[in-house]
Amino acid sequence: MKHQPRVLIVEDEPPIAELIAVNLRHNGFQPVWAEDGVAAQRELDAVLPDAILLDWMLPGESGIVLARRWRADARTRGVPILMLTARGDEPDKVTGLDAGADDYITKPFSTQEMLARIRAVLRRRAPEQVKDRIEIAGLMLDAATHRVSWQDQPVKLGPTEFRLLHFFMKHAERVHSRAQLLDKVWGDHVFIEERTVDVHVKRLRESLGEAGAMIETVRGAGYRLTAQA
Ligand code: CA
Repeated sequence: MKHQPRVLIVEDEPPIAELIAVNLRHNGFQPVWAEDGVAAQRELDAVLPDAILLDWMLPGESGIVLARRWRADARTRGVPILMLTARGDEPDKVTGLDAGADDYITKPFSTQEMLARIRAVLRRRAPEQVKDRIEIAGLMLDAATHRVSWQDQPVKLGPTEFRLLHFFMKHAERVHSRAQLLDKVWGDHVFIEERTVDVHVKRLRESLGEAGAMIETVRGAGYRLTAQA
């Protein structure tokens, strides 16, 4: 089945949210509705959408505040945001784009216009996704969205384990010494003992479950990630 882009609708007015959701569904998207920033944050913590339609005027935190926060957060940084605004004046649009929105749509808008804008932000984002996504023997890492999965099941990793896995996957089948890993993954200005590498490799293997076997210890040399495990 074709991938249905997931679109998070953050809108406090049910009739508008419903209208948007129906149109998205009819056009091959998977809409998810959140009525305010709190509900939206809960949704983002659970599943990252492909795009966010964000109303400007919301009870509690405004769309501008939310857009700023999601842009500052490494996890949500890559998700395109389209601001929905009832006002059409220039200063607002500029503020919205300054806050990190990728585009804005002025209410009332036509379905065709909304769909065209969503498709445009998804297209702009597509090349990066391809480049940032690495898959080796069922293990998938997406650097843009910070997601890792094993046989389509999500895997949770700490930040260091994520960077370590990213490095291993970018340089698969090659053996890396502990000193090289410290240099490449931790950075060469930090003084850390080599056994720190062992601790994080152990954690990484545990988090990966059966895919952990792909990270091999090469006696006297270091570690490598291999598809032949
Ligand atoms: Ca509103």
